[in-house]
Amino acid sequence: MEQPARIEQRILEAESALEGVFRRIDHTEQSCFERVLNAFRECRVASRHFAPSTGYGYGDEGRETLEKLFAKALFAEDALVRPSIASGTHALALSLFGLLRPGDTLLSASGKPYDTLESVIGIGEAGKGQGSLAEYGIRYAQVDLKADGGIDMDALHTALEQNPSIRVVALQRSRGYAWRPSLSLTQIGQACKLVHKKSPHIIVLVDNCYGEFVEETEPTSVGADLIAGSLIKNPGGGLAPTGGYIAGRAALVERCAYRLTSPGIGREVGSYQAGYGPFYQGLFQAPHTVAQALKGAALFGMVFETLGFAVNPPPGAPRGDIIQAVEFGSAERLIAFCQAVQAASPVDSFAVPEPWAMPGYQDAVIMAAGSFVSGSSIELSADAPLRKPYIGYLQGALSYAHARQALKEVLLRLGADQQ
Ligand SMILES: *Cc1c(COP(=O)(O)O)cnc(C)c1O
Repeated sequence: MEQPARIEQRILEAESALEGVFRRIDHTEQSCFERVLNAFRECRVASRHFAPSTGYGYGDEGRETLEKLFAKALFAEDALVRPSIASGTHALALSLFGLLRPGDTLLSASGKPYDTLESVIGIGEAGKGQGSLAEYGIRYAQVDLKADGGIDMDALHTALEQNPSIRVVALQRSRGYAWRPSLSLTQIGQACKLVHKKSPHIIVLVDNCYGEFVEETEPTSVGADLIAGSLIKNPGGGLAPTGGYIAGRAALVERCAYRLTSPGIGREVGSYQAGYGPFYQGLFQAPHTVAQALKGAALFGMVFETLGFAVNPPPGAPRGDIIQAVEFGSAERLIAFCQAVQAASPVDSFAVPEPWAMPGYQDAVIMAAGSFVSGSSIELSADAPLRKPYIGYLQGALSYAHARQALKEVLLRLGADQQ
């Protein structure tokens, strides 16, 4: 058999092994979709909500209804959903600056937070002179995850006992750029219970990036006070052109709104001349898009495992995010992987990604993102910080067919199944 035929054969075998996994993904999609559709009906969404607005945007019905809709879809009392929230990092920074005050301590209970948050928090030299939380007298403490990747509940309990200034406990649901399992909603729920037993006034903030619609519910339904994420990831469904969201308890959302605009003004302003249509349609599409991405991730995981690579999560393991990590063991293979994903993209397929220094990241990063929405990672994308042991992170795909096609390109370029 020629190499392409052998690759096709390998993929077909992986697909039949994944039948049960794919069925579970379909089931979750249906459940999330039902909730999202009901939210549209309850909010009485109508085409006038897609209309553009300008200037201050006082009483912008499209904006206000979109926020109600997101709140319902995400089990939250209230939500801020804005094109003017530039990214997931921005949504998380707004949350932290909205919730914390000088003298408070932020405790990360899922170990080192996502790379870009180091500058927000002011860990080490990161963000120095840029107005990090540290510069406002907000302290930072951390409880590392256990060796198995679970939350260290004993250490969390001890930290809460010893430090009365802890005001926010942060949890990162997704693995981000770390070789660990994503946090399940069960675990997040247990941590919320422990924190709120210590004090109902301590806020649990979950970085929900890449987690939306992966399970049937969200952290907000298991006790999280506030969640935040990016609209060019899961909840934008691949259609939202930009933006971020914060959702959870109404009083906390309001505090963040005063950070988003200004004290005294809060959420009452904000316009968008391009119109909110793609945000509505994106949310409608999101459960399906996430399911497509999950199937693609499962396929990559299964095939690379059969080729002898270490993969995370392993095929069939429960997932809390859309990321599939593969350990490539060498910079060359990792770069070839990202370049193959780029070559199999609908946009900029001819571009060749190279590692480069990105704002907010400590190592050089290589990114393959041949996406319609620039930098969108609910569209098929691959990225990696260039550091040992050279782990590549794959996420997204608006369609399973795209993920499958990209996998063929990757396997060809890596010389897999060559005679
Ligand atoms: C993507 C991501 C972020 C940051 O989002 P940006 O939109 O890239 O700023 C934060 N945390 C996690 C876990 C993420 O995956």
